[in-house]
Amino acid sequence: MNSQRADIDCDLMVIGTGMAGMATAMFAAKKGIKAVQVGVAGQLGFASGLIDVLGIYPVAGGRVVENPWQAITSLGRKEPKHPYAMIQSNEIRTSVNAVLEFLGRADYPYVCQKENNMVMPTSAGTIKPTYAVPHTMAYGPAAMARKEPCLVIDFKSLKGYSSRQIAENLSRSWPGLRPVSIGFPEAATEMYSERMARSLENPRIREKLADLIAPHIGDACSVAMPALLGVFRTLEVTEDLSRALGLPVFEIPTMLPGAAGIRLKEIFEQHLPEMGITSFFQHKVRNLSRKKGGGWIFEVEGMNFSRLVSAKTAIVCSGRFLGGGLHADRHGIKETIFSLPIAQAPERASWHQRDMLDPAGHRVNRSGIAVDRDFRPSDSNGRPVYPDLFAAGTILAGQDWMRQKCGSGLAIATAYAAFNACNNFLEKA
Ligand SMILES: Cc1cc2nc3c(=O)[nH]c(=O)nc-3n(C[C@H](O)[C@H](O)[C@H](O)COP(=O)(O)OP(=O)(O)OC[C@H]3O[C@@H](n4cnc5c(N)ncnc54)[C@H](O)[C@@H]3O)c2cc1C
Repeated sequence: MNSQRADIDCDLMVIGTGMAGMATAMFAAKKGIKAVQVGVAGQLGFASGLIDVLGIYPVAGGRVVENPWQAITSLGRKEPKHPYAMIQSNEIRTSVNAVLEFLGRADYPYVCQKENNMVMPTSAGTIKPTYAVPHTMAYGPAAMARKEPCLVIDFKSLKGYSSRQIAENLSRSWPGLRPVSIGFPEAATEMYSERMARSLENPRIREKLADLIAPHIGDACSVAMPALLGVFRTLEVTEDLSRALGLPVFEIPTMLPGAAGIRLKEIFEQHLPEMGITSFFQHKVRNLSRKKGGGWIFEVEGMNFSRLVSAKTAIVCSGRFLGGGLHADRHGIKETIFSLPIAQAPERASWHQRDMLDPAGHRVNRSGIAVDRDFRPSDSNGRPVYPDLFAAGTILAGQDWMRQKCGSGLAIATAYAAFNACNNFLEKA
């Protein structure tokens, strides 16, 4: 493969199209780096759309975090192997703000309280701390804090979302919720949330929906509905429906795959190529080789063709087991693209606690790629495996993003740190 001529020459290969890969590509585009990005739909399309920075800490006590920045400082002292411990708190903020600004410019603004987390109702009728929410969900935390009378609707054609379950489970903290089940305009017997969200971009369907909701309003001060307020034109859909009903309308995230995750995926997929990134969405790295003197040749394969990409550097953001970056079998956990060393418990028997819901979490979830200060994958002695390979996102060792509620924040902040280290390398080369 090494002797073949590459189809594309670039400075940086970004492997992954989850939040870490998308954020890395965004930082590269803003610096004008010649970058290629490759990956198939990551967790992003399944995500709730909420941007968590740090919601639970310490996990063993299940403590809900109010101020994520203070909690990150404390985490950095107590968990020195956590990726957050390797990044300055102001850099974590800068990176998250940069992604929020990008989304705002893409007409999908997010709302946050800067210092504190918000508390968001979920479709299970639980509450979840998060740092930033899309504008479509922004009214929910305020309405819940005021315990105002609120009509919570579900649609008979949408599975996995019950307004009655939400109202019953939240009845102590939010007694003013009144559930109602209605039909979705022009719906077949069963519908998927993405299709419903896209159909609400049609003003005629919105008008019909407002007519179906209006008779139930009663004393409600706001209307909560599943996250279906459009995919591309969420500002127009939310404002128009709120205007038609004369009340604020807000979303509660749905079960996956939900429209809110799909919005993020589609915004990045549309804007990154416009910003100069050469994107191979729905492609994978099938093969790779080292170039003499440093750098990489990647074979990128899609449904109908493959390309050879020559890159001076690479940032691997290939996720964990679901994303495909890690694979576990009876002999241990492996990194799937570069065969990098994995920080993991020596014996499989110690991967899990006896109790599946143990609040402290399972060791297997903290396994992954260990990195040096420059976010380069490192061996068990802390030595970087390659000078020009960097890593970011949930593939990194030392964190438990699901329990700590830090998925997107960790992906974005490590993308920023890995990209900056990679850029320094390129400048010195
Ligand atoms: C159901 C669900 C709900 C979530 N809810 C929230 C939430 O409420 N708040 C929050 O902050 N976060 C949430 N997240 C987490 C968040 O989506 C992830 O943390 C985030 O996407 C970061 O993941 P990542 O980029 O590290 O990896 P992933 O999203 O897993 O992406 C990995 C990428 O690597 C690519 N890849 C793997 N192998 C190859 C290869 N050989 N060649 C090319 N590409 C490859 C994959 O195609 C994929 O694009 C949720 C995630 C899930 C699944």
